Amino acid sequence: MPKVRTRVAPSPTGDPHVGTAYVALVNYCFAKKHGGEFVLRIEDTDQTRSTAESERAILETLRWCGLSWDEGPDVGGPHGPYRQSERSSIYREYAGKLLEQGDAFKCFCTPERLEEMRVAQRASGRPSRYDGLCLSYSPEDVARREAAGEPYVVRMRVPDEGVCVVEDLRRGPVEFEYKTVDMQVLMKSDGLPTYHLANVVDDHLMGITHVFRGEEWLSSAPKHLLLYSYLGWQPPKLMHLPLLRNPDKSKLSKRKNPTGILFFRAMGYLPEALVNFLALLANAVRDGEDEIMDLPAIVRRFEIEHVPTGGPVFDLPKLDWLNGRYIRERLDPATFARRVTDWGISPQRLTRLAQLAAPRIERFSDLGPLLAFLFSGRLSLRPEDLRGTKLDDVEMRRAFTLALTELDALPVWDALGIEAVLKRIAETLGKKTRDVARPFYVAITGSPTSIPLFDSMELLGRDIVRERLRGALQLLGGAG
Ligand code: GLU
Repeated sequence: MPKVRTRVAPSPTGDPHVGTAYVALVNYCFAKKHGGEFVLRIEDTDQTRSTAESERAILETLRWCGLSWDEGPDVGGPHGPYRQSERSSIYREYAGKLLEQGDAFKCFCTPERLEEMRVAQRASGRPSRYDGLCLSYSPEDVARREAAGEPYVVRMRVPDEGVCVVEDLRRGPVEFEYKTVDMQVLMKSDGLPTYHLANVVDDHLMGITHVFRGEEWLSSAPKHLLLYSYLGWQPPKLMHLPLLRNPDKSKLSKRKNPTGILFFRAMGYLPEALVNFLALLANAVRDGEDEIMDLPAIVRRFEIEHVPTGGPVFDLPKLDWLNGRYIRERLDPATFARRVTDWGISPQRLTRLAQLAAPRIERFSDLGPLLAFLFSGRLSLRPEDLRGTKLDDVEMRRAFTLALTELDALPVWDALGIEAVLKRIAETLGKKTRDVARPFYVAITGSPTSIPLFDSMELLGRDIVRERLRGALQLLGGAG
């Protein structure tokens, strides 16, 4: 039996999601339970969406959760580099091999032709799948097109007939008809790989033996298994984990509920409580056992057979209860003091706050009311608090709705970027930035005057700001 090796392979395209921590926890527990190794790989093949800030936040939050990895982009290891953007030449080599073997082909179809094909397929109720036109070209044709500088992608060949059986560790065999499996693009026209090729090559070269990943990847598994067989490799064992759910059973999404790990940190949840909570969602506790368990206990109790196949509900009141127990039962006063300091009053944060607050106070005792919003979860606001500015309800709803989208898309979360977003919104509404900023002040700080708005938003963090804007929107009757 080779040594068990698992990995978590997040794409750095946004704020780290609790689902990533859940997947990481399952992979971590399985590896540690079997005396194996746990790897962190950054899947940044989508260069337009990947950001350095997101990667930094992923590493930081997973480390905060205590899920340390044996190999990864920051700690290195014998199978590096662990960032896909640094492995392009490796993927090119395997794409070349697949082309040579005839298991992949160059596709010169233009985006317009592909769109026409999809429209026709949709109209006739056929599955959306590349129709194989470029497979019919002779080698001379291909050479001529290439020599003429026609851009192309590399696609994998997929049989037209037959069935692929994906053996899932928990679901058992899952069948897919090949005619529903698309001839996936493996290399884009810029010579960079897609997730599918990079993922398969890396899992193999990194010696990954077991893959626990979100169920949204189940339908990709047939493509991956084909690639393993084309390359003559043994695939890892696969298991697809159900997505975490809202209490109404819909997919956990930040449009409805907080989902960012940074949110939970900013709200003052303890990482050990959050991880313990995620372990409960993975059914790592049996009847009659105490639900409180530290990471070594989670690993000891973890059984992959017990991980649910139905989406576990992310039950916030349960997390609150658990966190409360941790605070009461697990933190002696000295630890409590240290953790609170780390959370909200680190010297670095206090220095920044001092600069922002000093011009606005006459006594230190003014600090409490001025800064309370930074140390609070939800604000208790009434609709009247937001009103009475130069924006009516419709305009405020529009402004908050636009802000939710635009702030989410900010690549770097800082006062400057936030200011630019609010300026743009003011322009869109045909208002002065100052007038648009006022309801934001109230929504974010609970008061029409406080320390500067954009700095406040930066200090609170994207997740808390999102929650407060959502709260304000709800007070005004919903999105506009
Ligand atoms: N990069 C993928 C993600 O972010 C990883 C999927 C996988 O584990 O294969 O979900």
